[in-house]
Amino acid sequence: MDTRNGFIEAIGNTPLIRLRGASAETGCEILGKAEFMNPGGSVKDRAAWWMIREAEKNGALQPGDTIVEGTAGNTGIGLAHICNARGYACVIYMPDNQSPEKVEILETLGAEVRVVPTVAYTDDMNYQKQAGRYAESMDGAVWVNQFDNIANRLAHYESTGPEIWEQTEGSVDAFACAVGTGGTISGVSQYLKQHREDVHLVLLDCIGSALYDYVATGTPVLSEGTSITEGIGNSRITDNLAGSQIDWALRISDQDMVNQVYRLLREEGWLFGSSTGINVCGAIEVARKLGPGHTIVTMLCDGGGKYRSSLFNREWLSAKGFRVD
Ligand code: PMP
Repeated sequence: MDTRNGFIEAIGNTPLIRLRGASAETGCEILGKAEFMNPGGSVKDRAAWWMIREAEKNGALQPGDTIVEGTAGNTGIGLAHICNARGYACVIYMPDNQSPEKVEILETLGAEVRVVPTVAYTDDMNYQKQAGRYAESMDGAVWVNQFDNIANRLAHYESTGPEIWEQTEGSVDAFACAVGTGGTISGVSQYLKQHREDVHLVLLDCIGSALYDYVATGTPVLSEGTSITEGIGNSRITDNLAGSQIDWALRISDQDMVNQVYRLLREEGWLFGSSTGINVCGAIEVARKLGPGHTIVTMLCDGGGKYRSSLFNREWLSAKGFRVD
């Protein structure tokens, strides 16, 4: 019997799914790590648990304490589930440009959600900084600080990376994914590189983010425009991303992402979120660069159900200037 004992044990050990269209089109094996199958519905369940586990281990977190975090939503959802499972209160700061569905899920889970105006990281009223200040002002509160808390990348070094290595029996030629905190790319890359020196590690960036330039030139410079993707892109090099071994970067447009998520829906039955659209586009580009016969792994970060009112709402999309072919 393959039984998992409770919520925490249900995190991770997700299957690797062969994307049929992308694989057929490129002559490569394009495999997606099914992170949407985590119990909180996204890749961030892993980081949420590792960060809480670390805080429990080092004594920062005591029974009945409050977890405070600034998040685009998925880390908050993972944290809110775990807070219930382990007896903590949960306060979440979110910028107001994220999907309303994520706020609703957080509230259903019992988190106190504070939606704040979307401002740059350099502004004192940025959601991450507000979360940090709030936790500091309160007794018995712990700020998770996912961007600079390296228990986040440790989650992927200790779980996602080894799973990908074992599931591909070491045949992975390239790993490509989009970056928010950098926990995923940096933890997975570190593990894969230790096992295979010549593996290609590729950062996928959306528009309006500074990470493509960072990989290309060493300096993070924001690209022009804004992206409708959620949970990815960054203006700065977080502690999680710093020092990670990335070979190259690709920038993917929002229109290509939109085409990809609808194609996956219509042709293969998948309902994925925007970061997964970026990831599949990027994996296909990597496959084209490497040529047929290679194995490329990417992340299927979350499902599309949380984006019904945006990415999967045709009126919303066309008001933003996107086509759905
Ligand atoms: N995709 C989604 C849907 C996310 O919520 C996140 C995390 N914000 C990412 C991708 C990026 O993952 P990471 O923070 O590990 O870079």
